[in-house]
Amino acid sequence: MARAAKSSGARAFKMYIDGKWVESEDRDTFRVVSPASGDVIATFPKGTAEDAKAAVEAAVAAQDRVRDMSIRERARLGSRIAEEIGRNVKEYAVDCSLEHGKPLRESIAEVEDSVPNILWQVEDLKRWDSPAQEGYSKDHVLYVSLHEPLGTVATITPWNFPWVLPSEFVVQAMLAGNSVVFKPASNTPISAAHLMESIDRAGVPPGFINMVTGPGGEVGTTLVEHPLVDAIGFTGETSTGLDIAKRAGLKKLTLELGGLGPLIIMDDAKIGPAVEDIAFGCFTTTGHCCVANERIFVQEKIHEKVVRSLVDRVRKMKVGFPLDPDTDMGPINNRATLEKVEAHVRDAVKRGGKVVAGGKRVPGMPTDLYYYPTVVDDVPTEALFNKAETFGPTAPIFEFSDLDDAIEMANAPRYGLSMAIHTANLRVAMEAAKRLKSGQVCINEPVYSWDYFNPWGGFRNSGLGRIAGRWSLDAFSELKTVMINIGRSPWPD
Ligand code: NDP
Repeated sequence: MARAAKSSGARAFKMYIDGKWVESEDRDTFRVVSPASGDVIATFPKGTAEDAKAAVEAAVAAQDRVRDMSIRERARLGSRIAEEIGRNVKEYAVDCSLEHGKPLRESIAEVEDSVPNILWQVEDLKRWDSPAQEGYSKDHVLYVSLHEPLGTVATITPWNFPWVLPSEFVVQAMLAGNSVVFKPASNTPISAAHLMESIDRAGVPPGFINMVTGPGGEVGTTLVEHPLVDAIGFTGETSTGLDIAKRAGLKKLTLELGGLGPLIIMDDAKIGPAVEDIAFGCFTTTGHCCVANERIFVQEKIHEKVVRSLVDRVRKMKVGFPLDPDTDMGPINNRATLEKVEAHVRDAVKRGGKVVAGGKRVPGMPTDLYYYPTVVDDVPTEALFNKAETFGPTAPIFEFSDLDDAIEMANAPRYGLSMAIHTANLRVAMEAAKRLKSGQVCINEPVYSWDYFNPWGGFRNSGLGRIAGRWSLDAFSELKTVMINIGRSPWPD
């Protein structure tokens, strides 16, 4: 079990290296404080560079055993992990809400979603074919391409979706035949420990998947620079992704980075569904989402109507304790994000923007991290909202004149994860789909859209590579070509 002791109500968790639950080598720990209650709810080993190296050594020692395991056996392990997660959804979701701050129903959906997410890749693994071709320039040669695991993969994940994001990397890297070292975010390690419990209970052999908790600046960088780590699967901020790219040398990188998702609303769009998509994309998970609607672009003619309707919608939302069933939005996860939200709102107002809903902290809550869902109208394009991810519960409204204008604004900051357009005109929608520089374009759907099987990833500052479905298997493997002389004997007479 990951839980070893209790200290003043906080549960003491451990790391998982070579099939054992362990302390850090210097026995130092860090605390997990709930943004919802302000209580210390857990302690974790504060892993060091030495702990990270020990985990890599365990993973490297297990490499051949993972690689040589049959696909059937790997698929069975994946299914068993999914089954173990599925047995404990409610318990895991409560912890997810307490360490993250998101409403319980969102945490339940997130933990539940991990199950089909993993199972989808298990099914893809069973059907993971690769090309064989008869020769073109050498007609006696058959070319066969084989999937080969990379070796040892380090997976480093952020705090905003503590179940979905590890469930896209950690098990998948093993399914593709690699051993894994997992470094979860320090704000939400309890969910990571529960995932590791499920992996342990599923009977995954020692060394196949290891978890080291502790600061990104030490544990993360050690994994990134370690000469025996072959690949990095990272989700997090663009600035961290850049740092990783600089340190990693020629390791194979999959980087899932920040977004600045625009939602473009043309004046022929249906206002009701557009407003629902704004609310969904700006305030779900308190706006802590890579595919949040970071920027709302509304065409001149319907601008006023959209804002009025959005303000009515937002005023009905209940900010509250995440475990209360009527809570629509919980607290902001951490102080740095709260301060960034406040700075972006202040900056917009200084430049002429108007706060038409929210714009301040909610008084009388157990912590001061609760912030009203906020709508800022008439935001100018020079504002910070249009330049850097806010990552909080804000809907900044920008006006545009025509499609060219909207597309230029959408592409300008050079982020490209998910973008959306609402319009009744299919020709306009398809033109936007072609011209928006983004890994995903959603038509009459929220920016905040995702599925298990879409090739997921960003253009430009939003990342490198694709994951989800069979794309995760591709991300964690190389293709090796084998050329076979089938036309004549390769041996001398
Ligand atoms: P960070 O980049 O701050 O942290 C992500 C992870 O990296 C954490 O585990 C962190 O450890 C670790 N880390 C920090 N510094 C380093 C380093 N120098 N080297 C190696 N690892 C390091 O991101 P956040 O946790 O703040 O997550 C939010 C970001 O993630 C947003 O930008 C969001 O858009 C993006 N994101 C992208 C997604 C996508 O699919 N493209 C999906 C979800 C989020 P520690 O916690 O100890 O600091």
